[in-house]
Amino acid sequence: MIETVHVGLGARAYDIHIGPGLVAEAGRHLAPLLARPRLRVITDENVAALHLDSLRAGLAAEAIEMEALVLPAGEATKSWPHFERAVEWLLAEKVERRDLVVAFGGGVIGDLTGFAAAVLRRGVGFVQIPTSLLAQVDSSVGGKTGINAPQGKNLIGAFHQPVRVLADTDILGTLTPRDFLAGYGEVVKYGLLGDAGFFEWLEDNGPALAAGDQAARIAAVRRSCEMKAEIVARDETEQGDRALLNLGHTFCHALEAATGYGDRLLHGEGVAIGCALAFELSHRLGLCSQEEPSRVRAHLANMGMKVDLKDIAGDLPDADGLLELMAQDKKVVDGQLRFILARGIGEAFVTSDVPREVVKALLSDELARR
Ligand code: NAD
Repeated sequence: MIETVHVGLGARAYDIHIGPGLVAEAGRHLAPLLARPRLRVITDENVAALHLDSLRAGLAAEAIEMEALVLPAGEATKSWPHFERAVEWLLAEKVERRDLVVAFGGGVIGDLTGFAAAVLRRGVGFVQIPTSLLAQVDSSVGGKTGINAPQGKNLIGAFHQPVRVLADTDILGTLTPRDFLAGYGEVVKYGLLGDAGFFEWLEDNGPALAAGDQAARIAAVRRSCEMKAEIVARDETEQGDRALLNLGHTFCHALEAATGYGDRLLHGEGVAIGCALAFELSHRLGLCSQEEPSRVRAHLANMGMKVDLKDIAGDLPDADGLLELMAQDKKVVDGQLRFILARGIGEAFVTSDVPREVVKALLSDELARR
């Protein structure tokens, strides 16, 4: 039942294994990659409490010795203080150039650990064992690593590809429904950006997948990873096409900044709302029919997800305030915002050619509906 997706990046190529039981089998999968039978693992409190014993046993089965650093759960961990603690711990544990570091957790742990591995001794290898749906379908693949700065999200980081990804689909069973659905926002994104057939499949299978259907979960993680792998292999450092993966993200990053990167809006929830806004914007620019954004919203609503700005609790800045936050985006070139728009479901493209007034009118209208 284990599926494998290959990320074709020449000397930095690697495999993503997807399926049940991979944590318990981690030793067998990782032993051939190790110069010595020793791994240092970084994880968070939630994942450690639920799954660290299982990982330890899986590694011990191949006589791999393991120690773990357990960090607090949550986005605030992706910051200098925790990063410093992680790097100093890895040094204190005498991790050498040929050793591997393991990121065992969601996107927060994956991004922080990958960045620590990128700078430790000028770069040590690392393995991703993603435990959230978001991390399995997105953040563990493609080598973007980093932490947040007070000035904005993900502003400090490096490209550093993992040497292997083990996506254990059983482990998704302990996610809260809210965290699961937030990850599903990124799954929907893949269908919307480049595979209308996959989106249609999600319309049919999304509810079963959320309810725990294993085969559907494996299929969704596999298709998402295939699409990400294909785009990353084409454009590893985001000179062009990789920006497609940011569908919904220009809006999302502004909304996350406006809500304080916390419980009010999870990243994947912001992505889902951002995708709906990107499709609405595409319609207003005459790129697609009204039916397309309506279909996007209908699917998100059917899944019980946040769909609109009105689904975000508490105050939000006005349209100018949100535009100001959007201008902080890493995708800004010469002060011009870049958007991912669509000519239809599965047909996204990158453009800088979006009049500010149209975006402002869209945001004003959406805010007025709150
Ligand atoms: P997260 O790491 O905070 O995990 C979400 C919550 O789920 C946490 O409380 C965590 O402890 C818990 N959790 C994780 N696995 C669990 C499990 N199996 N059972 C129970 N609880 C579990 O957040 P996330 O949604 O995984 O990732 C979001 C982060 O990923 C953001 O910082 C975002 O910027 C980043 N990201 C990075 C990339 C990339 O390409 N590097 C892509 C997308 C997102």
